[in-house]
Order: sequence, then structure tokens, then C-alpha cells
Amino acid sequence: MPDNAQQFASDNYSGICPEAWQAMAEANQGHQRAYGDDEWTARAADHFRRLFETDCDVFFAFNGTAANSLALASLCQSYHSVICSETAHVETDECGAPEFFSNGSKLLTTRTEQGKLTPASIREIALKRKDIHFPKPRVVTLTQATEVGTVYRPEEIQAISQTCDELGLNLHMDGARFSNACAFLGCTPAELTWKAGVDVLCFGGTKNGMAVGEAILFFNRDLAEDFDYRCKQAGQLASKMRYLSAPWVGILQDDAWLRYANHANHCAQLLAKLVEDVPGVSLMFPVEANGVFLQMSEPAIAALTARGWRFYTFIGAGGARFMCSWDTEEARVRQLAADIREVMAA
Ligand SMILES: *Cc1c(COP(=O)(O)O)cnc(C)c1O
Repeated sequence: MPDNAQQFASDNYSGICPEAWQAMAEANQGHQRAYGDDEWTARAADHFRRLFETDCDVFFAFNGTAANSLALASLCQSYHSVICSETAHVETDECGAPEFFSNGSKLLTTRTEQGKLTPASIREIALKRKDIHFPKPRVVTLTQATEVGTVYRPEEIQAISQTCDELGLNLHMDGARFSNACAFLGCTPAELTWKAGVDVLCFGGTKNGMAVGEAILFFNRDLAEDFDYRCKQAGQLASKMRYLSAPWVGILQDDAWLRYANHANHCAQLLAKLVEDVPGVSLMFPVEANGVFLQMSEPAIAALTARGWRFYTFIGAGGARFMCSWDTEEARVRQLAADIREVMAA
């Protein structure tokens, strides 16, 4: 298998989509004002406001870890805590950045159902302690689509938001795969965010066809106070900002973001369907976004790796994660499925 063959380890193995690439090329003409004062950045922010049908505040960061950490830091004080799922990226994959950038706000993990928080699990942890010795719960963060490829329905987000209102908590959404959630549900971005009570969204671009970059959208604009300073201090203010913002114009202006997310989701459905009757293989989670989580035998996983396939196995013994991308080729999905069938039969 060639070194640059399409893989399923992560959706960030893919390259840059033509729309983002083209917009960067257009942004590369002549000179522009620096530090986000340029016309591309203004256009990108306007596209977000149009897409989300609201006058939100928009910021850009280099990656998801920074976007999540700085957003969470802006929602709480150092003595507060942030409720998240035990599988949340902020907990397991950000090297303590949310705690670091918030100067110590503690993450409180709680049980989930298929990767999703519930009003009950939030209430349980938020009400566990009310004394001065425990970091005061202030934020709930949920991931849409979740780390295990499931998707919160609008009514589930509304129910969580209602719980947040009762308990005095802000609601943050890690939307590294927000596009895939919109594509799966056929909902508008507004329905899955501010209309359902989300205060701040980190909208992922990298995993859906951009080179680099996440957008941070504050629907509750009071919470965005001084956020530009926070970004600058954290080394997240790009001086040539147009190269972070132009690709967003490229993928938002003609709905490429949604087309690509639909395509990635479709490829995940295809993979799941092609292996559903393979003896010994079962789905660990329902396939809703662009990921397929399979329970397989350990020798089969080793054999698949030996054949050159790359995928993650962090989900426990015999668990394998396969992510589809904006550019995943169906032929490659069929090849993978055929190999899964063969190694399981061996
Ligand atoms: C990829 C991802 C991020 C962002 O990760 P970075 O590597 O920091 O860009 C955030 N949340 C989730 C759920 C992700 O999968």
C-alpha cells in the first residue's frame, strides 16, 4: 500500500479540499491588513452569522485544543468546574490545556450513554457537593458529534440546556465534527446551537477539509468580553489571519462544508453496511456521523495492521475506530471492508 494511501485512522489524515485551497489562493493576492483586520476575516465572520441566522461574535484559533480551552476559560473562573463526559476530548486529548488556560478550573467527568451526557448525569455531578471545599460547577461541555460517533438530537441539547439554566451553568459545545452532526440530522446550525441553548460553539474546520483552523462562535455575546485578548495571550492570534479565515469563506459560501460532511457520513454508513454480516464483527456504537467503531478479534486487528491499514484502537481490547473524511473514496471503503472480512475469516 503506498505511503500516502487513504487511511481511516482519523479524519485529519486527509488534505485540503479544493474550495478551501482556492480561497487561500485568492486571499494570496496583494497585501491585506494584519491581525484579523482584513476583508477575508470580515467576510468569514459574516458567513457564520448568515449560516447561524444570528448576530454572534466570531473568533479564529489554530486548532481545537486552543479553541476549546480558551472558550471554556472564558466561561468560568479558576475556582469553577466544567462538567464533561468521561470520553470528552477536553478530558482525554488536550493535555490539561482547559485547566491550564483557565488557571485551574477542574474538569469533572461523568458517565454517558453512548458518548452523550444526559440531564440526569449532569444533575448528579452538579449537585453532588455544594460546599466551599469543592470547585463550583459552572459549565457543561458537550461534543457534537461525540467522540464515539453519535449525535445529540436538538431535543437532547434543549433538555441539557434547561438543566444548565436550572443549575446556573453555561453550555459549551465542542463541534470538531459539528458539520457531520448537521449533515446527519438535517437540522440547521441554529437549531443545534443557540436555538437549543448553546452559549458558545467551537466549530471545527480541520477535520472537514481545511488545512488548519477552528472558529469560536459566541451566541451569548456577553461571554465574549476580552476574548480577543485571551487569544492573543495564548499565542492564537494569527498575524496573517486571512489564511485562517479565507478557507472558511471557501467552504461556507456554497455549502461545501455540508456536502463534505454528508459524504464522510455516507462513507461511514457504507463501511458499516459492508461489514454488518461479517461473523465476529459488531458495531460498538450506532453509526451516525463519520466514524465506525467495530468490535473485532485481536488477531484480526493485528492482521489488518499488518496489511498496512491505519486506525485507532484506543477504545479497549478488540475495539477499532475507522474515521471517514471529506475525500474518502468509496473504492477504498470497499477495500477495507473486504480486508476486514478476510482477516476475520482467517
Ligand atoms: C480533533 C478534535 C478536536 C481538536 O483537536 P486538535 O488536535 O487540537 O485540533 C477537538 N475535539 C474533538 C472531539 C476532536 O475530535
